[in-house]
Amino acid sequence: MTEATLTRSVPEILAPGRLFIGGEWVDAASGETFEVIDPARAEVLTEVAEAGVEDVDRAVRAARDAFEGGEWREMSPRARGRLLWKLAERLEERKDEIARVETLNNGKPLFESGIDVAMTIQTFEYYAGWTTKIEGETIPVSVPFQFNYTLREPIGVVGAIVPWNFPLNLASWKVAPALAAGCTVVLKPATETPLTALLLADVAAEVGLPPGVLNVVPGRGSTAGEAVVAHPGVDKIAFTGSTEVGQRIATVAARTVKRVSLELGGKSPNIVFADAELPSAAKGALAGIFYGKGEVCAAGSRLLVESSAHEQLVGMVAEGADRLKVGDPFEKGTRIGAIVSKRQMESVLGYIEKGVEEGARVVAGGGRADIGPGYFVQPTVFDDVTSEMTIAREEIFGPVLATLTFEDVDDAIEQANDTMYGLAAAVWTSDVKKAHYVASRLKAGTVWINTYNLYDPASPFGGYKQSGYGRELGGQALDQYTQLKSVWVNLR
Ligand code: NAD
Repeated sequence: MTEATLTRSVPEILAPGRLFIGGEWVDAASGETFEVIDPARAEVLTEVAEAGVEDVDRAVRAARDAFEGGEWREMSPRARGRLLWKLAERLEERKDEIARVETLNNGKPLFESGIDVAMTIQTFEYYAGWTTKIEGETIPVSVPFQFNYTLREPIGVVGAIVPWNFPLNLASWKVAPALAAGCTVVLKPATETPLTALLLADVAAEVGLPPGVLNVVPGRGSTAGEAVVAHPGVDKIAFTGSTEVGQRIATVAARTVKRVSLELGGKSPNIVFADAELPSAAKGALAGIFYGKGEVCAAGSRLLVESSAHEQLVGMVAEGADRLKVGDPFEKGTRIGAIVSKRQMESVLGYIEKGVEEGARVVAGGGRADIGPGYFVQPTVFDDVTSEMTIAREEIFGPVLATLTFEDVDDAIEQANDTMYGLAAAVWTSDVKKAHYVASRLKAGTVWINTYNLYDPASPFGGYKQSGYGRELGGQALDQYTQLKSVWVNLR
C-alpha cells in the first residue's frame, strides 16, 4: 500500500462498521447497511450497519441492564474516574488514526481533526476529575428535629444524538459527563459521519468499560434517532443539531416526559467597533466563519462593522478569504476542506445564489471551488447585506460571511440581537467599558471579547432563545445527567 492509499483507507474495524451493543460488535437485525462517503473525493469510504428500531431497542435494553445492574453506577467514584482517565489516555495513543478517520469522513483539514481529538481527550480528562466531586447538600429545614439532605443521583440511560460537524468532539461533550455521573449511554452519530463514534466504542472496549455502558447505533435520524427519543427506557436526551430537529425531539420526548437538553443552530454576530485593533478583528472574523468550513454552530456568520471602519475591515477580510487555501484536507496548508456532503454543498451554493439575487455584493469567493469531484466551496464574503436578507437571517452552515453595518453601540446591540438564535457572539473593541457593556446586553450563551472560537471543557456552552436549552461542559453539564433526591431523617 502506498502512503496515499493508506491515508485514504479506514481501519479494519470499520470495514465494514458494525453496531456496538452490550459490549459486542453486531450487525443490524435487518442486515441493512449504508454507505459512508469521503466528501473530498466523492467516493464511498466504507459501509456501516444501519440501526433500525429493533437495534435501538436492543441497545437501550443493554444500557438499561448495565445501569440497573449497578456495576457502573455503584463503581467507586475513584475507579470510575480512573477508567475515564484511561479512556482519555488510549485516545491519546490512537489520536493520529482517529484524526485521520475524522478528516476522511468529514472533509475537514487534518489539523482541525487533530484539535477535535485533543479537545475530546481533554473533555474525558476533565470529567474523570468530576466523578469524586458530585455532591449533595445538607439543607437547613425549619421543621423541628428533622435532618434533610440531598443525594445527587445519575439520571439513568442517556440517548445522545449528535451532528456531523464535530462528530467525535460533540459526542464526548455528552458521553464524558454522562459516564462521570454514573449514567449509561446510547450514542446515535449523524448518518453522514458514524466512523469516529465507532472508534470511541472500540477505545471504550479496549480500556474495559463494562458492557452496555456505552452503545453506538449509527443510522438515520428519522428511524434510529427517533427510536432513541421515543423509547420509554431512555431517561434523558442530549441533542446537538438543527433547531428544526430539536423542536421535533422536544415534542417526541414530551410523550414520555424525558429530560432534554438541546444545542441547536446559530447565526452569531461578530461585532467590530472602529476602535478595535482592525488586523486582529479581521483575523478573528476569518477564523470565526471559515474554521470548520463554516459548518460550526457558533460560526461568526454575521459580521457587524461600525460604519467608519467598514471599508477598511471588509477589505482586509475579503483579501484574507482569497488567500485561504481550499483543497485536499490531508495536504499541509489547506485551510478549507470539503463540505460534508453533496446535499450540504448544494444548500450552501443555494444560499450564495440567494444572496446575489437579494442584492448583496460578493467581495470574495462566490461559488463552488473547482477541485475534482469533491464537495468544495470557495470562502465567500458578502458585503452590503441588510438584516432582512435571507443570508443575514438563516443559518447557512458553510463558508459564507454576511457583512452588515452599524452606527453606534445601541444599533450594534439591536442588530446583533435581531435573530431567533442566541448561541454565541463576539465584540472587538479597545474600550474596556464598551466591551463589557455590550457583552452584558447580548442575548447569547457565549460572548468572546477580542477573540473568537475559544472553548474549554471547564467553560459552559449552550444557547439562548432558539439555540436551545441546557448547558454542556463545565460542572453545569453534570446537572443534565443527575437528579436530586431529598431525604428526610427524623431525629427524635
Ligand atoms: P440535524 O439536526 O439534521 O441532525 C442532527 C442529528 O439528529 C443527526 O444524528 C441526525 O441523524 C439526528 N436526527 C435527525 N432527525 C431526527 C429525529 N427526527 N429524531 C431524532 N434524531 C434525529 O443536524 P446536522 O445537519 O447533522 O448538523 C447541523 C446542525 O447542527 C446545524 O443546525 C448546527 O447549528 C447544529 N449544531 C449545533 C451545535 C451546538 O452546540 N449548538 C453544534 C454543532 C452543530
